[in-house]
Amino acid sequence: TIGIVVMDDDQQFSAGTSTNGMRFKIPGRVGDSPIPGSGAYAHKKHGAAVATGDGDIMMRFLPSFEAVQYMKHGNKPTKAAKKVINHMLTYFPDFQGAIVTVNRYGEHGAACSNFKKFMYTSVYKGVTNTHAVNCTIKA
Ligand code: ASP
Repeated sequence: TIGIVVMDDDQQFSAGTSTNGMRFKIPGRVGDSPIPGSGAYAHKKHGAAVATGDGDIMMRFLPSFEAVQYMKHGNKPTKAAKKVINHMLTYFPDFQGAIVTVNRYGEHGAACSNFKKFMYTSVYKGVTNTHAVNCTIKA
């Protein structure tokens, strides 16, 4: 999945995903990416998130929605992302996935589990940075 979060100059958010789905998927599988709150979620005030990974698990948790709720309640983006991943790991210890979060101050974060590597890119005022995320996190 390719996920994108955008915050404009008025702190308004957009989020979106594009995916080819899972390996060996059955014909007609929709997956999590187009499901609001699962693949992506944006709140006009509190931030946005995008997720990638095992969509059959993520669809049961709406991780992007949950992450924005955590940020709404004051969690920093990285903390919100870790809480969401750990929520899924509680039920599915082998869950493979990642989430990227951005709050209303433009702060961003991410968390991942059971991936060898996960990286995301941020662009702010023309400056591009690439961030490597440690996928062996615990909340
Ligand atoms: N989330 C996608 C799916 O389950 C897969 C991916 O992230 O690449 O369809």
